[in-house]
Amino acid sequence: MRKKLLVVEDSKAIARVIQQIGKSLDYDVTIAESMAQLESILEDGTSFFAATIDYSLPDAKNGEVIEYVLAHKIPGVVMTGMMDDDTRQKILAQPVIDYIPKENSQAYMYLKRILHWQKINNEIEVLVVDDSRTARALIADLLERRNFNVYVAEDGIEAMKVLEQHPTIKMVVTDLEMPNMDGIELTNEIRRKFTREQITIIGVSGATYGANTARFIKNGADDFLRKPFCPEEFYCRITQNIENLANIEKIQKAAYTDYLTELPNRRAFFQQAQDIITDCQRNNMDYCLAMLDIDFFKKVNDTYGHDGGDHVLKTMALYLIKHFESGLVARLGGEEFAILLKGESQEAMANALENFRQTIEDTPLPYEKDEIKFTISLGVVVNGKASLEQQISTADEGLYFAKENGRNQIKVVDEVN
Ligand code: GH3
Ligand code: MG
Ligand code: MG
Ligand code: MG
Repeated sequence: MRKKLLVVEDSKAIARVIQQIGKSLDYDVTIAESMAQLESILEDGTSFFAATIDYSLPDAKNGEVIEYVLAHKIPGVVMTGMMDDDTRQKILAQPVIDYIPKENSQAYMYLKRILHWQKINNEIEVLVVDDSRTARALIADLLERRNFNVYVAEDGIEAMKVLEQHPTIKMVVTDLEMPNMDGIELTNEIRRKFTREQITIIGVSGATYGANTARFIKNGADDFLRKPFCPEEFYCRITQNIENLANIEKIQKAAYTDYLTELPNRRAFFQQAQDIITDCQRNNMDYCLAMLDIDFFKKVNDTYGHDGGDHVLKTMALYLIKHFESGLVARLGGEEFAILLKGESQEAMANALENFRQTIEDTPLPYEKDEIKFTISLGVVVNGKASLEQQISTADEGLYFAKENGRNQIKVVDEVN
């Protein structure tokens, strides 16, 4: 179900902008233009996932609406045109998600980032490490307002234990001075086991000695905050570091994924196939490598256009995933795919491949008002001992043979040598 966003705002123009932002993030948006309207909206007990709150409304000029929204247990971002420090302090004394001065259009870009992350932060695990119970609770509370999944530890030793139990933790916020194992030692320990792509570390310290900032970073932390910090600074750093991590993940995924079919690409195949084959050889398990090529694919493009060809490739990817659920399939390029099967008898694997060939032959693919008929040829190597590259080229020889021999068939090749 779509999450509900409540927009409290008396300016119709601003409400519309925020509504657009909400919609672009797939929120179901409700607007309240006054305190009175807000009261009637909340009367029926509708539960909202988050709210943006205008500080000043015609019938509630001094931020009264903030308390009202928070009292209904709706996490709120306050948007305000008032830039004075008193107002700011007053707002931040309440458990709001954030406070955004409506200075310029950047304010709305920032709001969009907050509302985006608010939806997914519950999938992100964060570990807070501090020996002071008050400091720990303060940071945990700030993170929980942002929906993060928070764990706490009181020193480096306990932190390492928590990380062992929850290796999916993405971010560690650690104090510097702690008994048993301090923040620098902890950062070192984490970096021995986790890369910066896996966990981002933010060091926190009240020490005035400036070099500690650099020490944290030199020991593998990604960022540093000096205590006491204001919630806005804390949130900016957290969001920035989480976004960095997400960007790295996106880039890595793109580097290993075929853009058209979303199958693993050639690079991913080479990496994963090598590990699987090594593992099979160690455990005396049968495996086989198949190269698959669509027959006369050029004709498909010529007859149905490039989009028709793309449709065939995408569907082929889905078929492959479905048919070889426990195998590794990849698009190596063009209309050429690789399949690596393991863990079954040689006969069962050969049958699975032959079955697939037959299914493709028998199943014309609906496309627009047409049906696209096509066949595939495969070259296969069983329990190859040579290098992965050599096995692929041997399977390719089989594929070439199958093509020469009339296509729509499988050729199993023995490794020479
Ligand atoms: P054969 O049976 O010998 O394999 O003949 P073929 O026509 O399938 O093989 P050929 O290698 O001559 O042509 C492959 C064609 O695949 C040429 C190329 O334009 C097309 N192709 C490669 N990548 C894509 C793609 O991403 N989308 C589409 N639609 N076509 C592609
Ligand atoms: Mg207003
Ligand atoms: Mg082909
Ligand atoms: Mg080809």
